[in-house]
Amino acid sequence: MPKAQETVLEIDLKALKHNFDHLKSRLNSNTKFMAVVKAFAYGSDACELANYLQNQAVDYFAVAFVHEGVKLREAGITKPILVLHPQAANFKILIDNCLEPNLYNAKILNEFIAIASTEKLNHYPIHIKFNTGLNRLGFSENEVNTVVSKVKETSAVKIQSVFSHLAASEDLNERDFTLNQIEKFKNITEALTKAMGYKPLLHICNTSGILNYSEAHFDMVRSGIGMYGFGNSEKENKNFKPIGTLKTIISQIHEINKGESVGYNRAFKTDAFLRTATLPIGHADGIGRQYGKGKGYVIINNQKAYIIGNVCMDMIMVNVTDFDCKEGDEVIVFGPNNTAENLAETANTISYELITGISQRVKRVFIGY
Ligand SMILES: *Cc1c(COP(=O)(O)O)cnc(C)c1O
Repeated sequence: MPKAQETVLEIDLKALKHNFDHLKSRLNSNTKFMAVVKAFAYGSDACELANYLQNQAVDYFAVAFVHEGVKLREAGITKPILVLHPQAANFKILIDNCLEPNLYNAKILNEFIAIASTEKLNHYPIHIKFNTGLNRLGFSENEVNTVVSKVKETSAVKIQSVFSHLAASEDLNERDFTLNQIEKFKNITEALTKAMGYKPLLHICNTSGILNYSEAHFDMVRSGIGMYGFGNSEKENKNFKPIGTLKTIISQIHEINKGESVGYNRAFKTDAFLRTATLPIGHADGIGRQYGKGKGYVIINNQKAYIIGNVCMDMIMVNVTDFDCKEGDEVIVFGPNNTAENLAETANTISYELITGISQRVKRVFIGY
């Protein structure tokens, strides 16, 4: 691997393949796989990754918003794409791009049927989401008949899938709650299937659902974080390889004497001699201020160098007092060995937030084709 000469997010497609193959190995061979590539494929690069995954055995893609789906179409993705959280204002664009909406309440279902009828669509695939306990999006369990009667009234749409989302699939202390969600989902989908007279695809599992509730895979699973290399537990993490390595370099080394300060607002004052390294990565790149003041760290020559003082927009300063390092040396912010999950913990957050927050300013480079 070439040494970094600037801040880059290196994406290892071999690791992506490893994770995908592992997830597939946890499924029955006929269970479909929906690759969740919302938010730039969790900060990596949705178009590049979707193109790679399209050549693997991926059945479906999912994004959060319509414009994310449009980007995938423009990049040559031909497989079906579910839009998890569409807004009615974008329905025409959604239809023009053959994207498939999640319809989660009566208002948006009516709005979609109205435009689908105006556009003279026939059996356009829609996805119906039910709320089974997350209380975020979805029809409630007593709205099955509402859905059925609205959809039966028209030939403009057909229910391609019915799904729900688990609230705590990674937390085994909440096992009873999760099992209850799964049970509710079964009851809802049995009633709906019977009333519709055909069986849509059923799906409820995200990555941790796949790993912890093999009895609930139904017809399809939806995975995001697992593909990107995190199993959401110490045990499961061993089966995955983080695909992203965020690298940067040392721009400058300073020797700081007792009584001096480092950075904005003089947030760090030293009572002893120290050496600092200034790195070209800051909060505008996705390393937020919550990592500052000694919480977050980077790896320089296999040692943890803690962030000193406030994180700046384009820079951080780290403590390299006793390190063997020099200007131009490579720095690892996170990667397979010191994971984004570990770094995220230092700021009381989770891998998801850290990796999706790496801004578009950071160049993505791909290895392992
Ligand atoms: C983001 C999302 C997923 C993917 O979850 P992971 O934990 O990353 O696997 C699945 N389903 C829905 C509805 C989502 O919003």
